[in-house]
Amino acid sequence: MGKLTVIIPSFNEEDNIENTAKVIGDILQNADIDYGLLFVSDGSTDTTFDIVEKLAENDKRISGIHFSRNFGKEAAIFAGLEYAKGECVAVIDCDLQHPPAVLVDMYHLWEEGYEVVEGIKANRGKENPIYRMFTAIFYGIMSSLMKINMNATSDFKLLDRKVVEALLELPERNTFFRALSFWAGFKSTTVKFDVAERKAGKSKWSFTGLIKYAVYNTTSFSTAPLKVVFILGVLMMIFSLVLGVETLVNYFLKISADGFTTVILLLLIIGGCIMISLGIIGHYIARIYEEVKGRPRYIVSQTANIEK
Ligand code: UDP
Ligand code: MG
Repeated sequence: MGKLTVIIPSFNEEDNIENTAKVIGDILQNADIDYGLLFVSDGSTDTTFDIVEKLAENDKRISGIHFSRNFGKEAAIFAGLEYAKGECVAVIDCDLQHPPAVLVDMYHLWEEGYEVVEGIKANRGKENPIYRMFTAIFYGIMSSLMKINMNATSDFKLLDRKVVEALLELPERNTFFRALSFWAGFKSTTVKFDVAERKAGKSKWSFTGLIKYAVYNTTSFSTAPLKVVFILGVLMMIFSLVLGVETLVNYFLKISADGFTTVILLLLIIGGCIMISLGIIGHYIARIYEEVKGRPRYIVSQTANIEK
């Protein structure tokens, strides 16, 4: 499978596969890099995997796995890591938004001895403003929660075999690939790249999908939201003390107003806080439940050019 395995998560990318395989293949070949391309069809419902199979028949450097259904990009990346045989492994999007030429720089840095080479977005390319605003907020929160500069990460990176093994050792199912390479440590460096425009097809992200991604990744990586519950409680406590003293003083001075407004407001505010807190705790319990079930991250239904 070559010295460098390039993992390409692909979900309904029939318009991209052939071109992507050719572009990446040409670039790596011209740079004299011994490579293999590993397409992970994330339960594509179009002809994505048929094309991969066809390519794999004619070119031994191309291989592919196909999931029984859509398990998400995170699962696709991890499946790729598991099936990759290379001494170093890179992950790149199928739509060529990550410029493949950067793979060559990454590879050379790896040869120099770096174990993690992170691709960093120099610009974010053309994105719709809502998406941009949402990612800005999400990255801001994530960065401060996890003490990792999220703007300095992307899914585009190259990992040494050692790092791949370390990530595969992780027992949890809910992972966040982007941040995990930071968490793992190792000797790392970065390369800047300009986000290109999507070659063909549409982005697979829906707005709700993004929100879910944000929530799941924050909670899979950090317990900070639970601390928010505690802080909320402390603030509420201080507020109640102040209000309590004031109420008592008013009562003894016999100037207490009839307090319907205060009471109803307090009830609503406290009720809201409690429900939000329960929601946050409930979310963590749900995640624990998912982890405890220990279901596989993905199910492979077909493979091409993979001996196992
Ligand atoms: N992708 C995937 N599974 C999914 C969604 C996306 O494997 O459920 C792949 C997709 O084929 C592409 C990459 O992840 O190679 C990035 O997806 P996309 O271009 O839709 O996201 P964007 O670039 O808009 O963030
Ligand atoms: Mg894209």
